[in-house]
Amino acid sequence: MAYNAGNFNEWKLREEMCEIGRRIYNKGFAAANDGNISFRLDENRVLCTPTRVSKGYMKPDDLCIVDMEGKQISGKRKRSSEILMHLTIMKTRPDVRSVVHCHPPHATAFAVAHEPIPKCTMPEFEVFLGEVAIAPYETPGTQTFADTIIPYIKDTDTILLANHGTVTAGSDLMDAYFKTEIIDAYCRILILTKQLGRVEYYSDAKAAELIKIKPNLGIRDVRLEKGLENCDLCANSLFQKGYNEFSPEPHAFLHPRQQAELAAHAAPSASTDALVDAVVKSITGGGAPVTAAPAAAPALSSEQFNTLVSTVTDQVMAALKAAR
Ligand SMILES: [Zn+2]
Repeated sequence: MAYNAGNFNEWKLREEMCEIGRRIYNKGFAAANDGNISFRLDENRVLCTPTRVSKGYMKPDDLCIVDMEGKQISGKRKRSSEILMHLTIMKTRPDVRSVVHCHPPHATAFAVAHEPIPKCTMPEFEVFLGEVAIAPYETPGTQTFADTIIPYIKDTDTILLANHGTVTAGSDLMDAYFKTEIIDAYCRILILTKQLGRVEYYSDAKAAELIKIKPNLGIRDVRLEKGLENCDLCANSLFQKGYNEFSPEPHAFLHPRQQAELAAHAAPSASTDALVDAVVKSITGGGAPVTAAPAAAPALSSEQFNTLVSTVTDQVMAALKAAR
């Protein structure tokens, strides 16, 4: 990935950065003075947004220029403290020209919940974003925070920052911004779908078909480099293991294979056995009516609860059948 010097009209870029700032602000992706945007002008100069200025009200003159170490070269306002993360991305990925960071509410909800974004639900998402990583939490504005994303940014342009927001990288300002728009639109659809009560998935084979389209569109997908044959495309995340010790597990969005795995581990257990006993005694008149789980019940997600209910139901039915 070689760095390409390019040839840009700086004033036009400043206007475009202000326009993207307005979009971010108007869409509610960055409240008050939140969010920051950058564009690499050349080998050692990066145009970026100032701190403590609303991204919805920036003028081209408000923008700053820093060197690749974050030292301010020009601009009357102070540069964003988050520029360290932008520069770390640009140093790790010389093909990245622009970075957008903000707190779009739907995607940030997944980041706060540490909920991996499910796949095999919408083809456009698979093609234009693909695997999305969740980087571990660190105090914003520090180099330690910036360093949390290094393992992931090598293999993806879209990262959720745990308990914080999103960061997207691209070949130009619009490319980086559109990835932010796509991730939030997708997360919004997922949250709405969840409210309807169920999520349906297409198959791994269909996911593989979509991933194979990407090279023709000039979109890299690291899963193609690793080989799709042995990948569990729908139920497993590329970023679960080998990238960081921080490895969030799904709670709200479990693929049917993950639900089955959970059920296999969940049953039979001492607590489900006790619950089955109590239910059977209650039905057959041998005990008090069951109003609550007999043991201290752990907090369960809706999928875990459904799995538990179906496990208990199956076992109760089997016990009743055997008792007759
Ligand atoms: Zn932030």
